[in-house]
Amino acid sequence: MTSAFVSAKKQLDQVEPYLGKEYARGLKLLKKPQKIIKGKVLGYRAFRVQYNNARGPFKGGIRFHPNVNEDEMKALAFWMTVKCAVVGIPFGGSKGGVAVDTSGLSREELKRLSFAYADFITPYIGPWQDVPAPDVNTDGQIMAWMLEEYERKTSQQSPATFTGKPVELGGSQGRIEATGLGGVTVLKEYLKSCPTSPRLRRVALAVQGFGNVGYWFAHFAQKEGFKVVAVSNSKGGIYYSKGLKIGKMADSFKPNITNAELLALPVDVLVPAALENTLTKDNASAVRAKLVLEMANGPTTPEAEEILLKKGIDVLPDVLCNAGGVTVSYFEWAQNLSGYYWPKERVLAEEKKVLTTAFANIYRVVSQKKISYRQAAFILAVGRILEAMMLRGRI
Ligand code: NAD
Repeated sequence: MTSAFVSAKKQLDQVEPYLGKEYARGLKLLKKPQKIIKGKVLGYRAFRVQYNNARGPFKGGIRFHPNVNEDEMKALAFWMTVKCAVVGIPFGGSKGGVAVDTSGLSREELKRLSFAYADFITPYIGPWQDVPAPDVNTDGQIMAWMLEEYERKTSQQSPATFTGKPVELGGSQGRIEATGLGGVTVLKEYLKSCPTSPRLRRVALAVQGFGNVGYWFAHFAQKEGFKVVAVSNSKGGIYYSKGLKIGKMADSFKPNITNAELLALPVDVLVPAALENTLTKDNASAVRAKLVLEMANGPTTPEAEEILLKKGIDVLPDVLCNAGGVTVSYFEWAQNLSGYYWPKERVLAEEKKVLTTAFANIYRVVSQKKISYRQAAFILAVGRILEAMMLRGRI
């Protein structure tokens, strides 16, 4: 199994030649997280990796999944650091998780686990320290339980400690759909930049992963006029070449293709929106899409990306495509700290502005230097992180 953290460090190595020599020490420091918190929660292995906070408080989701391990947490925390810098929001990066299969847990057991994990990380989190959010198999309800435990232990109201909360507890309008919507914004900007902008309804998309991110991505893509021909979850996928009706489609469809088949469909855009290491050196040559738009974190290994780029397939990186989620989390944190809440129209308009600007900046570097979108995104982001580290006297 490819180590996600090894992949992340390879991505960092690829931009080293483009950064000044004065940053060499900083780059070395960026290959290690600042702090790793690990232990057991109700008998399950639990982690919080605080990667880098040069640009602001640590920020990153909490994952409940049987494959959660230290290597994965480090990679995801690193990508959060890069992502916040790509979109220019004042956060560092972190990630947390519990190695647990939640499918067999009752609601009461899930609640107990959420309280116990919050208890475990309470000394290390807070609005100006580290701000968690939902990730795979966690959601607004779980954030609400964790907030309750954190506030009980610290004897204060502190909604800005968690983002992705239900609106009733200080969550932001638009947060649930923000990540998917952001990906569609990036896709539209990319297509606008193509020499001949195709008609949207002719652009066929296949989406792997139909959770929070995949569902909302497919939903908005269809609403904007794209043709979503396939979606999948961990059990398999559903393919209909004339286009599926996403609407309120549930996650319980009857599969007619496997996930491996979905990745090789004759579509224009392939959207991995499940987990890391989906596209590897073993299956990348089967990809027939013209564009891979990464909505999951780390779905393409560096070896797979090399194969895709050689085939002339562009890869729009996770640190840009799924940054809509953390952008609206930033708005949620800012609303909580100010106590003034924005209407949904403002949230979505500001999210769009942030992502459009980030795409334009990356596109400029891609065009000037003739490099990949990931390299361009990393050059901009890593440059910002290293500058902050330098200003603080860390390097
Ligand atoms: P989720 O738990 O809501 O959904 C995950 C989906 O992936 C489910 O449909 C599940 O069935 C499917 N899946 C799991 N294993 C699979 C496999 N082997 N093959 C195919 N499908 C599989 O999680 P989510 O919040 O949608 O997160 C998905 C990805 O997006 C993750 O990489 C996450 O880190 C990233 N992400 C999430 C957010 C967010 O706001 N939730 C923000 C940025 C990035």
